[in-house]
Amino acid sequence: ATTTRLLEVEGLTSTYGPVRALDGVSLSAEAGRITAVLGANGAGKTTLLRTISGLVRPVAGRVVLDGEDITKAPVESMVAKGMAHVPEGRGVISELTVDENLRVGALFRGKVDRSEFDRVYDLFPRIAERRNNAAHTLSGGERQMLVIGRALLAKPRVLLLDEPSLGLAPRIVAQIFGLLRQLVDSEGLSVLLVEQNARSALSVADVGVVLNLGRVVVTDSARTLMADEDLRHAYLGF
Ligand code: ATP
Repeated sequence: ATTTRLLEVEGLTSTYGPVRALDGVSLSAEAGRITAVLGANGAGKTTLLRTISGLVRPVAGRVVLDGEDITKAPVESMVAKGMAHVPEGRGVISELTVDENLRVGALFRGKVDRSEFDRVYDLFPRIAERRNNAAHTLSGGERQMLVIGRALLAKPRVLLLDEPSLGLAPRIVAQIFGLLRQLVDSEGLSVLLVEQNARSALSVADVGVVLNLGRVVVTDSARTLMADEDLRHAYLGF
């Protein structure tokens, strides 16, 4: 089967002062695939996403989106190029309603069709039910759905998700990952899913990339990584 390498990262190296948080990381993410980036606390996962989306400038390496070198592209141009980044922490505007939060998310795009909001609500019925509730009344899972929905309004081809499962009950994580799978299968976008929760991430991902101390330890199919007991014990914590 032919595959589309929508996102390619080559030899990416990022530092914070003397700390080399990423050290020559290479990976690719394909359309219609979920690529999980796994590893312990401090492995460099968050820095990887921040470097891909332009929030951190690498000291070496390249980020290529659909054939275009975007390594030095301004952060504010990323959305127009098709990249959406959902950072850790589920930041929403607490006093605004769910619907208003989605609208704020769509502001930078100019005119957004009603049907695009409906699409988000179709994907996340929980969020649709709560559209007129203030965001601070949402549960952690609902809030995660809201920030993913808000990112989808940017119509991304590549979606970067940082630790969406953090602090959520396993049942809610399974629900959100199931919806993510459905979205990727139906719309063909590429998801780069950063997770410390490797077991859940590998159960939904197609491919896994394991990071340790800023370097790629192994890249393989999710199925193969899941079956590798030594690797799981050494790097994945299960
Ligand atoms: P976590 O799950 O804790 O976010 P991570 O795998 O995402 O871990 P990073 O947050 O990317 O890892 O951190 C990689 C390394 O860079 C760590 O050694 C961390 O201490 C360091 N680091 C991260 N952010 C900064 C910063 N703003 N200033 C200095 N060092 C940092």
